This record gives sequence, C-alpha cells and structure tokens, in this order.
Amino acid sequence: MTNKKRNLIERLNSGPVICAEGFLFEIEKRGYMASGEFVPMVSLEHPEALENLHRDFQHAGSDIVQAFTYNGHREKMKVIGKEKLLEPLNRAALKIAKKVATTPLGAEHNLMAGNISNSNIWNDKDPKTHKKVEQMFSEMVNWAVDEGADILIGETFYYAEEAYTALKVMKKTGLPSVITIAPMGENIMRDGVSILDTCKELEQLGGDVVGMNCHRGPSTMMPYLKEVRKALKCHVAGLPINYRTTNENPTFFNLPDQNGCTCGTPHETTFPTALDPMQCSRYEIRKFAKDAFDMGINYLGVCCGANPMLIREVAEAVGLKVPASRYRENMKNHYMFGTNDRIPKHIKDYRGKA
Ligand SMILES: [Zn+2]
Repeated sequence: MTNKKRNLIERLNSGPVICAEGFLFEIEKRGYMASGEFVPMVSLEHPEALENLHRDFQHAGSDIVQAFTYNGHREKMKVIGKEKLLEPLNRAALKIAKKVATTPLGAEHNLMAGNISNSNIWNDKDPKTHKKVEQMFSEMVNWAVDEGADILIGETFYYAEEAYTALKVMKKTGLPSVITIAPMGENIMRDGVSILDTCKELEQLGGDVVGMNCHRGPSTMMPYLKEVRKALKCHVAGLPINYRTTNENPTFFNLPDQNGCTCGTPHETTFPTALDPMQCSRYEIRKFAKDAFDMGINYLGVCCGANPMLIREVAEAVGLKVPASRYRENMKNHYMFGTNDRIPKHIKDYRGKA
C-alpha cells in the first residue's frame, strides 16, 4: 500500500488513464432520473445509487471518479424550479465522488474530478450571457476545489468561446484541467470555429488535456481525433458515445433507427429514449480505444451509453488489467458454444439451429 498519489499528468506521461463518463444515461437506465429533463438530483435523492455507479466504474478500471454535477448548474436548476438546491446538489455529488476516489480498489487513490459543462444559455451574439456563464462556471469550480477535487473536467462544449471561458475559469484554480468539446452535426463549432482550431486554441490557453467527448460515436469522432492528435503537443482525450453514428448523422441527436422500431407508436426522435438499437458492440469500443491509444491518445473513456463492461473493455484494450478483468467473457464454458470437454457433443451439434 502506497500513500503516494500521482497527479493526472504524471499518470498520462506514463500510460493510459481511464475516465468513465455517461452518468446521465446510466443513472436514467437504473431508474433514478427523468430522461429528457436530465437533472442529476440523484446525489441528493438517492446518494447510494450514485455511489454504486461510481463503485462499478471504479471496479471496471476508471482511474478518475468524475463528480456527477453534469447539468447541475444554476440555469438548469432554474428550469426545474430548484435553484436553492444548486449548492447542496453540487457538494453532495462532489463528496460522494471524493469518498469513492479515496477508497480505491488498488494501492493508489483515484483522482476526483469536478465537472462543468455547456451552460445552455451561451449566445455568441449576446455578450451579457458570457458573463452569466462565467459566473455559473466559477461557482461550480469553487465548490469542486472546496470539496477536494484533484482535477477539473469541462465537457460537451459546442461553442468554441464557451469552451475557452470554461478553461479560463478552471485554470485559475491551478488544478490540472481537462477540456473536451462536442461539436454538433455541422462538424464545426456553433460559433463558426473549426474543431481543430478550437482544440489548438484550448492548448494555447493552457488545457492540460484537450479533446472530444459525447455526441459522437467512435466512427464520427475518430477522424477529428486523428487531426487533433497530430496538431497538439499536450495530452489528448477521446470519449465517444456508445452509438453507431454515421456521416449522414454524425451525432446521436438526429440518429435514425436503422432497423425501425417496431413498437407501432411513432416517436419524434430516437434521442434520447429509443437509441438502444444503435448501440456499438463492445468490440467496436475496444477497437476505438486501441486505435486511439496507438496513435498517442492516453486519456480514454466512454460517454453516453457507457456501462462498466465497456469501461473494462477500454482499459483492457490499452493493456490494463482491472479488478473487473476477472469477469471478462469466458465462452469456453458456455453451455452450447463452449469448448469445455464436458459440453456434450449433441449440444454442440445443435449450435447452428439454436
Ligand atoms: Zn455523453
């Protein structure tokens, strides 16, 4: 048992660092959040459910325990009429993450991350909104520092200037800062800056880790990550969603159901409640992680659609052995498809008709 805790950059310099994201979707699936509304009240209403999910991700190899404050910002709390719970929600989420990070399964503590994200009020044509957004970021970052965050993550920005603002606020704390953008289907930031130029600027502004997360599956994130990795010197992050996005529909917001839902009731969009048929297989996530790591991307994870099995897959794809590796697939003992000597021949022979 060692007390030494390496910081994020030391870890990234010596190998891959895994970060599980996708808390909104997974907590919703577990029954503790309303889809669409997506407010992380779970830290106050069912803290044990949130702690369990952190534990499951930790067990699967997540080195970072990201406090679930996504969407837990002042504007969203106003939308649901619960602004007075803003600070309690943030502090509760941070405390749960800190508890999990400081009781690791291995010898070394995990890193607890404070988290901010796109504000939903940023308007590139209205500077007044910029000041408001900066204040929203500042209060959340201050609570994160206060509760002992080891790093800060700013994520899912689709305005370049909003991402720059988030990074400036995070950098003031002196903590290592991860900043990831999530361009929409136009393949350009909404304020007209290219994905590559946004990332270059984020590096110039001092981003310790710069990259992309959310909105895009492996196939529509990877081409941009390649460019970004080539152009930047700092560490790069890649955390796709677990859905098969396409060139026609680069994000999950307008992704059609390729096979057609058979429920009989037309739904306006597949996002966010009917995306299930477009999930990637674990092998696609594994391939993404391995390809990204091989080209020098050391900060890896999965965003929306993530589950512990996929986080284990990412970790193992880059050569790590994690506690959950003990439970990785073992088909040899399958009752029909296995190779174990005890599987009777007449059962094996039936495979083609199963
Ligand atoms: Zn996401």
